[in-house]
Amino acid sequence: MKSLSIFHCVSLGLMGVLGLVKELRSATENSASCCAAIEAEYPNQVIYQVDETYEEANARWTQNAQLAPTCIFLPETAHDVSTAVKIFVAQACPFSIKSGGHTPWAGANDIDGGIAIDFSKMNDTAVSDDRSYVRLGPGGTWHNIYKQLNGTGLAFPGGRCPGTGVGGLTLGGGYSWFTGRVGFVADNIINYEIVLANGDIRNVNATDDADLYLALKGGSNNFGVVTHFDLSVFEHRQLIYGGLAIVPINVTDAVLERFSELVSASKDFPESDATLEFFLNGTNAAGQQILLWLSDTDDTNLNGPHEALQPLLDLEPKILDRVGVTTLVDYPHDVPPVTRVLMTTATFVNAPSVVQGVHQLTLDHFEKSFSGIPNLVFDFQYTPIPRHVTEQSLVRGGNIMGLNDTTDDLIIVLLMPLWQDAAYDDDIYALSQDWLRLIHDYTNSVGAGSPFEFVNYAAPFQDPMASYGDSNLEFLRGVSEKYDPGRVFQKLVPGGFKLGI
Ligand SMILES: Cc1cc2nc3c(=O)[nH]c(=O)nc-3n(C[C@H](O)[C@H](O)[C@H](O)COP(=O)(O)OP(=O)(O)OC[C@H]3O[C@@H](n4cnc5c(N)ncnc54)[C@H](O)[C@@H]3O)c2cc1C
Repeated sequence: MKSLSIFHCVSLGLMGVLGLVKELRSATENSASCCAAIEAEYPNQVIYQVDETYEEANARWTQNAQLAPTCIFLPETAHDVSTAVKIFVAQACPFSIKSGGHTPWAGANDIDGGIAIDFSKMNDTAVSDDRSYVRLGPGGTWHNIYKQLNGTGLAFPGGRCPGTGVGGLTLGGGYSWFTGRVGFVADNIINYEIVLANGDIRNVNATDDADLYLALKGGSNNFGVVTHFDLSVFEHRQLIYGGLAIVPINVTDAVLERFSELVSASKDFPESDATLEFFLNGTNAAGQQILLWLSDTDDTNLNGPHEALQPLLDLEPKILDRVGVTTLVDYPHDVPPVTRVLMTTATFVNAPSVVQGVHQLTLDHFEKSFSGIPNLVFDFQYTPIPRHVTEQSLVRGGNIMGLNDTTDDLIIVLLMPLWQDAAYDDDIYALSQDWLRLIHDYTNSVGAGSPFEFVNYAAPFQDPMASYGDSNLEFLRGVSEKYDPGRVFQKLVPGGFKLGI
């Protein structure tokens, strides 16, 4: 299925590649003219390379995601975005879209020589009068939103780390502490305000442009620039039981076994969740730790026994134990900006032996291939998507991520090496691709493979849109054709994961 779609891209690409290169070259030359045109409309909202504020405005969570746009445009309203898109399209200027800027690879949210739309001024948060949803600007970061809504008695699914943005995390599906209770973040968006390729500002929901509404639930930046997200909320004390526990690497077997049991039992304990993070700083056990990110969002059971989490809570010895009653505001731990990172992801069906198998392959690959890279931190994580998450998605109309028919308890594995020196970029990319092949070969060989690639954790050499399956990809391509016949979001917005058309 995937090879067919790659073939399709290649054949189309070969035919059009010369024309496209020419088109993009002249488009890059147009950027200065587009910057001037947008500055004429919004004199205080454009930053150029010569400006003092450029470096800070162009910073990304990780240095290796940073490019050099000709100018940065800071819209304040959907109308500003609409004006900009009309100018960019009329003059064929390439542009990028950045929300929280946490995608850790170059080109997803920044651009060389084009215009970077930066949403940091559109970070408004407002609760609806009937307290059923919150309207979020795309430039909001989740921690600020938790702070602003602190004390309202409302909760909602959002990012688990402070700096991740509303825009990217939500359009990529979005995994939150509440995923077990209400599905993915995208499943809970009841209305998108979006600027289309022709500059139209639309409200897109289950009744208006329902096809586009579905496409946005996992379809990333392929259809327009989203200028507001209306996210369902629910009454909640804003207190959760959870936090971080760290245990030594020598309890790995018990951790994996208990994690797999938690995933299997999660239908009965939908609010209990655990993400495992293995942190290997060298091959010596002294530099290796297991971080257990635990949560139970049932606010009626804060102090009682947390049956599903208990086996993980019981692990001894603990290097750190910060698990207890906490708030939505206090739980996220800051992840400071880093130098170089890559995220690569695979998905597989939960079974204790498969978790152990994936784990052993990853460790072997680290020791054999990655460990020679200087100043490397080898980080990898396991996040559950049990079948009841899919059921929650379906209750809310489903999404386009190819999981609607899944009856398996799935686990996402995320490989996230962190390193310092750009000289090792190519090695890390090649080794991560090798890892991916190993994991796919192994999980397929034991009948536990899943094609799903979580956009939010995917590497540039992956194809998450194709991973949703042939019919979903065709649907997405059809929606693109309908709302963006000129393929603005395929060609003029080259960054991110595209539809291969
Ligand atoms: C420290 C850390 C913690 C993380 N935690 C989580 C987590 O808890 N749950 C989870 O699901 N993921 C998580 N992720 C992954 C994260 O969701 C992705 O990196 C995501 O892309 C971040 O969103 P962003 O807005 O910050 O990214 P950006 O890089 O700004 O945007 C990501 C993509 O979305 C597009 N985009 C952004 N805004 C818009 C818009 N308004 N309209 C159209 N397109 C847009 C961009 O063009 C880009 O291609 C984490 C990542 C990191 C680095």
